[in-house]
Amino acid sequence: MRRENVDQGDFVVLSEAKDLHLLARSGVCELPLYTRDVPAGALDLGDNTNLWGAPPTAVRVLCATSSNDIARYPSPYSAILKAAMLRYVRMDGAPGVDVVTGCGSDDVLDSTMRAFGGTGDSIAYSAPTFSMIPIFARLNGLESIAIPLTQSVDVDAERLVDCNAKITYVCTPNNPTGTVASRAAVEYVVTHARGIVLLDEAYAEFAPETFAGLVCEHEKLIVTRTFSKAFGLAGLRVGFGVGSSAIVDLVSRARGPYKVNAMAERAVLAALEPDGVAWVRDVTRQAIASRQRLTTELATLGLVALPSAANFVFVPTARARELANGLRERGVLVGVHDAALRIGVGPWEMMQTLIGALTEVLECA
Ligand code: PMP
Repeated sequence: MRRENVDQGDFVVLSEAKDLHLLARSGVCELPLYTRDVPAGALDLGDNTNLWGAPPTAVRVLCATSSNDIARYPSPYSAILKAAMLRYVRMDGAPGVDVVTGCGSDDVLDSTMRAFGGTGDSIAYSAPTFSMIPIFARLNGLESIAIPLTQSVDVDAERLVDCNAKITYVCTPNNPTGTVASRAAVEYVVTHARGIVLLDEAYAEFAPETFAGLVCEHEKLIVTRTFSKAFGLAGLRVGFGVGSSAIVDLVSRARGPYKVNAMAERAVLAALEPDGVAWVRDVTRQAIASRQRLTTELATLGLVALPSAANFVFVPTARARELANGLRERGVLVGVHDAALRIGVGPWEMMQTLIGALTEVLECA
């Protein structure tokens, strides 16, 4: 192994690849790489993005990009964007409340764990939940404690709190189940958890209520939101967390500067203009209508979805793997979670393609 001084940094030059494994931080070699195999032309209902596309106000801004817009760095912590986000969640007048942006809400979740957790600490969450949580936990040296959802598919608030974890994560509406946590459960966790509460509201726009307002009374709570779902901007990778100025300050320090790029910042600002938000509201209404209709159609095929408050439905079935494979052969991709399918909701023509393919698969079996 050789050491080389490049510019100001001291870089280790490795003679053999296996040396890297010895040098890697504990646990990193075992972390899975995220893979998604999407054949060209497939109808992809597997990633819960906005199947209606992106707000025209954002697309116009991206198309009008000039050299000056991208030649310089964006602002380190997206100051203007933060103000627009606070207005969007109707907390611009709330004293002591602030926003931290991120490269997707993934970045805010990861940065929160980095800010508050470390080796020897733990994170407690309901299972099943967002698959990246145990991965970010491991990356940040945290031990994961998974507590099953209750029989009524609610968060088991008492058991979560009893874990005494440094961080408690609650996802509502929950990925992959699409179900919501009850207000009583969320309030119990927020009031009684010993440490930080990370409340993930990636799908809030499709749900009847949001719990973001709780940050005004709970300093240790941070609520994350994203532009990847209802806002149709997954490709730009922008998310944010809203919380007390104190928690936001620490998460921002752990996150580091320049995580939202200049184009994404401009496009999200445009999406948050009244016309952009009106587009999002309209498309969200269509998604909710499509979700209800899809749920009814699936039931006629003998597939009963859990009540969903997101832009996907979760269908427990012992035949999940077989059905997903049959759908893939017919060019339709859905998510598979143990014994359940997770199907993204989109414009009705897409749902008809799905139902046609699913009917064929069920008839073949
Ligand atoms: N939270 C939940 C519950 C999700 O399902 C996802 C993406 N699937 C994310 C966070 C991360 O989204 P993003 O990084 O695109 O904001």
